[in-house]
Amino acid sequence: MSTSNEIKITHIDIYKLNIELHEPFVIAVGTQWDSKCIAVKIHTDKEISGVGEASPILVLQGETQETSFEMAKIFSKILIGKNPLEIEKRINEINAVTPWNYAIKSAFDMALYDIASKCAGMPLYKFLGGCNDKQLIIDKTVTINTPEIMAEKAKKLVDEGITEIKVKLGRKPAEDINRIKAIREKIGNEIPIKIDANQGWILSDAMMVLNGIEQYNVEYAEQPLHKDDIQGMAKITASSPIPIMADESVFDHRDAIRLVKNDACDFFNIKLSKSGGIFNALKILAIAEASDIKCQVGCMMETRVGLTALSHLAMASRMIVYYDIDSNFLLTEDPVIGGIKFVENKRWILPEASGIGADFDPDFLDKMEMTTVKS
Ligand SMILES: [Mg+2]
Repeated sequence: MSTSNEIKITHIDIYKLNIELHEPFVIAVGTQWDSKCIAVKIHTDKEISGVGEASPILVLQGETQETSFEMAKIFSKILIGKNPLEIEKRINEINAVTPWNYAIKSAFDMALYDIASKCAGMPLYKFLGGCNDKQLIIDKTVTINTPEIMAEKAKKLVDEGITEIKVKLGRKPAEDINRIKAIREKIGNEIPIKIDANQGWILSDAMMVLNGIEQYNVEYAEQPLHKDDIQGMAKITASSPIPIMADESVFDHRDAIRLVKNDACDFFNIKLSKSGGIFNALKILAIAEASDIKCQVGCMMETRVGLTALSHLAMASRMIVYYDIDSNFLLTEDPVIGGIKFVENKRWILPEASGIGADFDPDFLDKMEMTTVKS
């Protein structure tokens, strides 16, 4: 379809997506038992629609499926009748409603980009100026448990073909060193290990653990301290033997510039359900480029719809070098048609269809609670 300035948003469907996890997902700040995402479908008067997905997790973004569902109705009322191709204007309109609620904003952002890239007749990565030339080799995650069980789980992932392991830490600092030791002894020295404390340590804990695991060849440490402890993040970045990645400390571009000004991390972890979507993620990437900070793209509890949008973004910046794109493997259902495809048990390949190139299975959506906003 050729680009038309006349295109208008007619109605928006909002769905609560409920999917069980294979097993509880245990991290420092809490345990997830299921995935409760939100899908939005933005329809237009041109037989073209866009899909987006948000993954709200109360303890991380302060949003739930319920708050997101209500905010989505408010955002929808603002957007109906307007041109979806004017992305900046539409994003600023929903930003004017609330300064927060980044997760649900990201679903709308994603759907607008889906429409725009479909109108342009391009896969999203191309629309973003990217090139499908990177190998999206992912890590898979081992969540908090005893050192022995974590080592067994890491070994199982390596046996399946996974070539990078991410390990959740941050509950009991003294035991965290033993966890990494046990995993290293089980899987050998070749496989890169990344760790993520999810804000679980204080500065002295973090120094003790990071110095204690230096010998185990750890690639980087995500979010050792509370997200607002920027001074602590600066201290640990200056003195840690292992590079520091900001995750919860960097939601949007304003957070990114604050971290840069304080020399408070070595890497950014960009997630669409933190940044508010692709529009803000590109702003973070501009700051990353200007500051020579390499980035990871990461996920919450999204299906392959959200993960496909994220994978397109990964192709749009050379600053993105790590791909923590694995939440779909936690889910007991894969309700997605099209989208990224997992190959060689270790990497994703992108769809070449226009737009995101992924959508929800209508039979799955039929079973979910939903509402349609028409005006
Ligand atoms: Mg993290």
